[in-house]
Amino acid sequence: MADLNNKVAIVTGGSRGIGAAISKELAKNGIKVVINYNSRSELAEKVVAEIKEIGSEAYAVQADVSNIADAEKLIKEAVNHFGGLDILVNNAGITRDKSFKKLSEEDWRTVIDVNLNSVYNTTSFALPHLLESDAGRIINISSIIGQAGGFGQTNYAAAKAGMIGYTKSLALELAKSGVTVNAIAPGFIDTEMVQAIPENIRESIVAKVPQRRFGQPNEIAKGVIYLCKDGDYITGQQLNINGGLYM
Ligand code: NAP
Repeated sequence: MADLNNKVAIVTGGSRGIGAAISKELAKNGIKVVINYNSRSELAEKVVAEIKEIGSEAYAVQADVSNIADAEKLIKEAVNHFGGLDILVNNAGITRDKSFKKLSEEDWRTVIDVNLNSVYNTTSFALPHLLESDAGRIINISSIIGQAGGFGQTNYAAAKAGMIGYTKSLALELAKSGVTVNAIAPGFIDTEMVQAIPENIRESIVAKVPQRRFGQPNEIAKGVIYLCKDGDYITGQQLNINGGLYM
């Protein structure tokens, strides 16, 4: 079992939803957390304050991870602030759901940039530091939509499926180094992203979930902790946390 005390993690999109839950759970386990956000600084600072209240350390950094210069700034600031980097959680993501006929080139490119190209951006600058760690972890928050597809989600499904292929390939390349690379594929989790879905569609989604409820952000965070703490021999995998919706 890895000793997580005083390890350093970056959580992209750590200011709300799943990323905020991951950040708090990491902090509860003694990890120093860099909370990345894009636009809503007040939410990131709230998560930092909540973490400091439990006696752990956190630091917020604004960076649009779809922009490679911003991603470089994020990693540099994190390493300068906490003196190293052990865990990278690629969690930032957006949806722009539209049927393919209505999907603009911008809808396609923006979703691929934020969900997938961001992973290249952050990993590129984080990897030299992760390789120096004795517990290096890369955890990519993919989605059930990348596995099963989703109506009106060609852009998002392509990005999330891309994350899974990237996870497996990088895991192979890094296996000997001790840095593990895994994906978590959440089902439908009760965050702003899912709250934006019209109520009638939300009801029809819940009816299809074998456990008949949405997941909670903390249930994804527990998966991240499991991979960090007990995941020495787990690499290149997809951890499905979805109430049985996709098996
Ligand atoms: P959310 O509540 O909408 O939060 C998204 C987070 O990403 C926010 O912190 C946001 O920060 C940040 N973000 C967005 N664009 C960014 C950018 N360009 N650079 C940096 N940060 C950015 O989303 P969520 O539901 O927690 O989802 C988190 C991840 O899980 C996403 O990758 C999502 O695709 C995936 N996922 C979610 C579900 C679900 O049901 N909720 C299911 C499967 C997978 P700002 O507010 O500052 O912009």
